[in-house]
Formats: sequence, structure tokens, C-alpha cells
Amino acid sequence: MRVDVLGVAFDNVTLDEAVDRALELLEEDGPHLAATPNPEIVQRAGKDPEFAEILAGADLVIPDGVGVIYAAKILGRPLRARVPGIDFAAALLGRVAGTGRRLFLLGAAPGVAEQAAVNLRAAYPGLVVCGAHDGYFKEDGPVADAIRAAGADIVFVCLGAPKQEKWIAANGRAAGARLYVGLGGSLDVFAGRVERAPEQFQKLGLEWLYRLMKEPSRIGRMARLPLFLTSAVGARIRGK
Ligand code: UDP
Repeated sequence: MRVDVLGVAFDNVTLDEAVDRALELLEEDGPHLAATPNPEIVQRAGKDPEFAEILAGADLVIPDGVGVIYAAKILGRPLRARVPGIDFAAALLGRVAGTGRRLFLLGAAPGVAEQAAVNLRAAYPGLVVCGAHDGYFKEDGPVADAIRAAGADIVFVCLGAPKQEKWIAANGRAAGARLYVGLGGSLDVFAGRVERAPEQFQKLGLEWLYRLMKEPSRIGRMARLPLFLTSAVGARIRGK
């Protein structure tokens, strides 16, 4: 059963369950969409009906970010676990390495996806990365063709939200893969261009704080988090 958090319905899954579900989706013809919304993305969906509809039709919607967990708790329908998109991606790769499933990396600045491919092959022996493409292209068609030609089963689409989900909705079928995962800035992390927060920050649910310390220009985006939680309080009071 899904849990509605301010208009986005989340799967109430742990990390392991999310990966199990993704592996099931890989057994069926696609295209399937796995989305990893954080509070910012939920807020964006609230203002963008096309995006909200794509998320409503997604096959797997996992709660990325402690803000979603807080909001669910405030709403009186707690989610069982925070499942950061990047942890989900890493765990999924751990399970598909050695199975022959083929991964394509799409997104980020030129060179980043290729570097991520090198690092991921080293981190997950037996992983097949069948192609990579940067996220700054003008036409969708040739990119979808490249993914199809590479025979990809899984595509990590890292163009930022909602661009990545809209790209998947429009091109997923043509590109021929079974599972598309929208993963924002994850390729920058896999490529070693952006550091993840130290484990202590992650454990405390303070990864956002570390990111803010590293990139203070994110303050404008993050200042919306209190508003997000206030909306949850409002919705609870109105009995939604
Ligand atoms: N990006 C891209 N094409 C675009 C816009 C953005 O490939 O047209 C990439 C950007 O280089 C970065 C990622 O998308 O790697 C977005 O990262 P961000 O952390 O903003 O994503 P979020 O998860 O917060 O949506």
C-alpha cells in the first residue's frame, strides 16, 4: 500500500524491499519507472500536474530524504524507512552485478557518466555497464537510440527532477530498457566529483546539512524544507 505525503504516493518499503521490487520489475517487459522523491521534488510535483501524474504512475516511489519521513510522521501515517536514492542504486548494482543485466548511465556534465562507469565497474565486479551519455543533449531521439543499441536493461537517468522523470515518460519505451531510475546528482557522486556526507551525518539523517555546508548556495532550495513540514502540519489539521 502506498502512503500519500502531500500529494505524492510513496511505497512503504525498506531498502532491501525496494531492491527486491526493482529486481521483480526487471523480470517484466518495461518501461518501468523508479522515482526517488525528496521534499523538494514533492513540492515541485504540487505545482506541476504533469510531473505529479508521472510520479503517480511510477512503479516504485521510494522516500529519499529525512524530510519525507518527518512529513509522513506528522501526517500520522509513518513510513518505515528512509531510502536514499543513491543507497538504493548502490544496493541494486550489488544485486545485478554478475547476472548479465546491462546498465546504462545517462546524465551529468560531459565525462562524468564515463568516469562513473569506470568506478562502478571497479566497485561491483561483474557489473556490465553497456554505455554512458552526458545529460546536456539537445535531442532526445539519438539518446534513446543509443540506449536501445546498447541493449540496456537498467538506465540511471540523472538529469535532475522533474526533467529526468519527464524524459523517462517520453522516451522510456523507445529506449527499450526495462527499468529506469531517476537519480538526480548520483552520477557526480559515483564519479567522485561530489563527496557524500560522512557516515555519521548519514546516520543522523543530516546529510542535507553536510551538503549545505559544502554548497552554501543550496540554502535557497533548502529553506523550503520548513515550509514543507508546515504544509504537513496543515494537512494533518485539516484531516487530509
Ligand atoms: N543535469 C543534466 N542535464 C541537465 C540538468 C542537470 O545532466 O539538463 C545533471 C546535473 O549535471 C547534475 C544532476 O543533473 O548531475 C542534478 O543534480 P541535483 O543534485 O540538482 O539533482 P536533484 O537530485 O537535487 O534533483
